[in-house]
Amino acid sequence: MRTEEREVTGNGTRKKGLIAAFLDLLYPPSLYCCVCGNIIDETRPYSLCDHCLDHLMWDAGGIHRQDGLKLMRCTQYGIYERTMIFALKYNKRKYVAHSIGEIMQDKLAMEGLSFDVIVPVPVHESRLRKRGFNQTDEIGRDLAARTGMTLLSDAVIRNRETKAMRGLSPTEREENVRGAFSLREGAEERLRDRRVLILDDFFTTGATACAMADVISTAGPSDILFLAFAARYDD
Ligand SMILES: [Zn+2]
Repeated sequence: MRTEEREVTGNGTRKKGLIAAFLDLLYPPSLYCCVCGNIIDETRPYSLCDHCLDHLMWDAGGIHRQDGLKLMRCTQYGIYERTMIFALKYNKRKYVAHSIGEIMQDKLAMEGLSFDVIVPVPVHESRLRKRGFNQTDEIGRDLAARTGMTLLSDAVIRNRETKAMRGLSPTEREENVRGAFSLREGAEERLRDRRVLILDDFFTTGATACAMADVISTAGPSDILFLAFAARYDD
C-alpha cells in the first residue's frame, strides 16, 4: 500500500514532553504512517496519515456490558486495524504499540476513566518463546508510561495454548478457555482493591475476556474493565 508521498500539514499541537522522549527511546518514532507507509511528520496523532486516520473505524461508544463484563473498544476490526495489529504482532514493528497506546490513552481520557493497574492478556510461554514478545505487553508498557498506571505483565499466567475462537460455538469457546488462566503466586495483593484494566489488542468473543476477568476477580479488585484496541462486532 505504500504509494505516493503525501504532503502532510501537522497541527503541531501534541507536546513532546519527557514521557514522549522516553517513549521515543523505546520505540523510535516512525517517519511513515504505520498503516499505509506514507511519509508523515512526527506531529501526526497516532503515527497515522490523514487518510488512515479517517479510515480507522473509531468506536465512539463508552463502556459496553456483555455477559457481566465491562468492555470498551477503541475501534471496530477492519483492514486498517488488522494492518496495525499484524505489523506489531507478526512483523515486530514495535512502534505500532506506541500508536495503539496513544489511542487507548485518549479513549480512557475521553471517557474520564482511570485505573491503578494494567494486566495485558498473556500468551502461553511456548508462544512467547517463539515470537519473542507479547504484543499486548508492548501496548501495556506504552500505556503505563503515558498514564502512570502500573503494568502487571506477570500477574496472570496462561496455562496452555488455546484454539482460535473463530468457528467455535459459544459453548466450545467457553470450554476452550476454561482453566486457561490462573493468578501467579503473590499477584493477589497487587490486584486487591485496585482498579484493574485488562488489555488486549483484539477482542473476538467474550470468552477470553470473561475468563481473564473471572481469574482477576478472585483477587478482589475494586473494578475491572476490559479494553480492546479493535473488536469484531457480532451485535
Ligand atoms: Zn496511512
